[in-house]
Amino acid sequence: MSELQGKRVFVTGSGAGIGKAIAALFVERGAQVVVSDLNADSAKQSADEIGAAGVANCDVTDEAQVRAAVQQAVDLLGGLDVLVNNAGIEVASPLLQQSTESFDKIFAVNVRGTFVTMKAATPHLVASQGNIVNIASIAGIGGSPLLGSYCATKAAVIQLTRVAAVEMRPTGVRVNAVCPGFADTAMVERLAPDFEAATQVPFGDLVAAKQGRLGTSQDIAEVAAFLASDRAAWVTGSHYVLDGGLTAS
Ligand code: NAD
Repeated sequence: MSELQGKRVFVTGSGAGIGKAIAALFVERGAQVVVSDLNADSAKQSADEIGAAGVANCDVTDEAQVRAAVQQAVDLLGGLDVLVNNAGIEVASPLLQQSTESFDKIFAVNVRGTFVTMKAATPHLVASQGNIVNIASIAGIGGSPLLGSYCATKAAVIQLTRVAAVEMRPTGVRVNAVCPGFADTAMVERLAPDFEAATQVPFGDLVAAKQGRLGTSQDIAEVAAFLASDRAAWVTGSHYVLDGGLTAS
């Protein structure tokens, strides 16, 4: 039997990038997945391509939309076993030059979005003894120039994961995080020119020196699939690093 057979899953930001790869791999492993994104067109395309069970869109900064989308997913799937909090944005510029508006925005998406989606999904996950996988980042572990506010949001996601895991342990709900290094998505395509300008090093060389190669969205989806599966039954409150050794040196 496939490791995610029959799991009912809701993935935020799954119209593209890592979220889409997670949704696709989960379907391949037997899960029923509801795709969700801010961008309705990409969500529909993603769902059609991967054979998702449905689409329930929301902007994760809007709590009412999040609650409605989680309920829509529950109605479509007949319950919920796994929430993947993947929706996220980046800001790349020196920290103290970042506008307060962009600081508020990145916290609204990456932190508040994770918080409200966990709250909306929790009663359903308690009912199913399910679990949550939050997509954090190695930026939440070490500070990275140009990614100051992003680093702060991802550190917050790791801490939300830890506390929710401990508080929810008596309910049987597990909560874990994944901390990838640089991977092959549109987000990194947007970041690369800023890193090149700041370091005068071609981004490919920077990545090769620090983590061997660019990660793939599939690399990340594999770890998310493990954490979401019953094979990870004793894993909770953890943040799994996958970065080709970047943070090891
Ligand atoms: P991406 O920009 O390629 O895709 C992000 C998706 O999230 C898009 O489909 C976008 O429409 C959606 N989204 C953005 N804001 C949203 C909102 N307010 N509500 C709902 N959906 C929204 O990014 P990605 O690289 O696939 O990143 C996915 C997650 O992985 C993010 O949380 C990111 O911080 C994290 N991450 C990425 C990398 C990397 O190298 N790409 C590394 C570590 C962590």
